[in-house]
This record gives sequence, C-alpha cells and structure tokens, in this order.
Amino acid sequence: MTATALTIGPLLHEGKAKKVFSTDRPGVLAVAFKDDATAFNAQKKDRLAGKGVLNWEISARLFELLEAEGVANHYLGCLEPGWMAVRAVRIVPLEVVLRNRAAGSLCRQLPLAPDTPLEPALLDLYFKDDGLGDPLLTEARLDRLGLLQPGERERLESLARQVNAVLSRRFGEVGIDLVDFKLEFGRTDDGTLLLADEISPDTCRLWDRGQPGSTDRILDKDRFRQDLGGLVEAYGEVLKRVQGLGQSPRPYR
Ligand code: UDP
Repeated sequence: MTATALTIGPLLHEGKAKKVFSTDRPGVLAVAFKDDATAFNAQKKDRLAGKGVLNWEISARLFELLEAEGVANHYLGCLEPGWMAVRAVRIVPLEVVLRNRAAGSLCRQLPLAPDTPLEPALLDLYFKDDGLGDPLLTEARLDRLGLLQPGERERLESLARQVNAVLSRRFGEVGIDLVDFKLEFGRTDDGTLLLADEISPDTCRLWDRGQPGSTDRILDKDRFRQDLGGLVEAYGEVLKRVQGLGQSPRPYR
C-alpha cells in the first residue's frame, strides 16, 4: 500500500477489536484493526497474532463489494496494512443482526435446531451496551429509547437486507454460507444513515460448504468462542476466498 498524505491524529476511541483515530482531513477517521479477540461480553479474551490484518483486508474488500452494488458505507480506502480511512459518523447504539440460519444465541433462546433455514432472514435489533449485556429490543423498547427517527427503522432494515442479499450471494460464489452477521450504522453530519463498523469473521458466522456438518466448517469467531483453535488459519481461508471475488482494496488518497 502506498503512503498517503493523511496524518493520523489522537486516539478517539478504543473498542474490543479496533481503535479509531482522528486525522488531519476533515470528516475522515483512521481505524486500526487489533489482534485482540473477545467473546461473551469480553469475559473471554486472547491476542491472536495476525487477526487484525486479516479482518482489515476482509472488511475492506467486503465494503468495496457492497459499494459496487449500491450499498453506501463509511469505508473510504486503505492506509497501511491493518488500517483504513473511513467517513466520520456518529454510531447509532444498535446491533442489527441478520440470520439466514439458526445458530448461536437464537438456538439458546428459541426452540430452533442449529442450522434451521430462516426465510425470510430474521432481523433482530439489540441495544449496544456492554454494561447491560446488549439486550434484545422489542419495537416498544426501541421506541422508548428514541434511538431512531421516524422512518429510520425501515431504512435500516432495508439496508441490512440489501447487505444480506449481496453478501450471501458473493460468499456463496466462493463456497461459504453466510449464516448470520451483525451490522452497525452511523449518521453523517447531514443525518444520513450509513453502514459503518466492520464486516469480518469476528462479526459474521461463515460456514465452509465443502465441510458440511463438522466443526471444520466453522470459519469465524465461533472457533474462539468454542475453543476449537485454528482461528487465524480459518480467517486466512476466508480472506483467500474473498480475494477471489475482486481486485485488491484501493488505497485511500
Ligand atoms: N455478533 C457480533 N457482536 C455482538 C453480538 C453478535 O458481531 O456483540 C454477531 C455474531 O458474530 C454472529 C451474529 O452477530 O455472527 C449473531 O450472534 P448471536 O446473537 O447468535 O450471539 P452469540 O452466539 O455471538 O452470543
């Protein structure tokens, strides 16, 4: 990646998997992807060398694929490995989860066997608050919190379903089932909702279609959650396949 004229400024925010820095360009932030892995609301932690750079490139490529299919998002381009430039947005404290098959918390909370296909995809909203354990929201609780303006819920749902359609198809082309995933959105200065955060095996369940039924099919953070080992190798496999879907991510200029 060639160097850009962008200068990284002070750290604005450090999350579990990324750090966000200001830059000398108005409205542009720099995001660094960390090697830290956390699960179960950060009760389980580890550092997995190489994870950050893998998630960075996977995420950059997926944001570019989405942009090419009309899903606007905060990604602007890549800086050095592990770093990307993004548009500054105010993150809406919601986790938007789309599920194409039953897995994870859904199977713990409802009498649904793992793998059960969900058509249309199930969309759940959670309140992004670690202190409260990211609770599942009802329509009434969402209204009570007043996090969305009139019409924004529909907009958010339609964007999330568009993301699902594009990513399910593109992952399918390289033999991966997109089981479920989490999205976050932000608002630009003019109030537009924009897809933000990251899209990576940390935030998606990805199953290798070539290995049905066995835990070998798991190419995502469940390898860490379930102590299966081989997480960096699995993320590397996801990257290799996603590389087959398009050209190298663009440098930010
Ligand atoms: N997810 C995430 N961050 C969260 C919660 C969930 O990225 O804080 C992703 C998770 O990786 C999976 C999907 O959202 O792809 C659905 O997660 P689920 O509700 O099943 O929760 P989990 O099984 O992770 O407890």
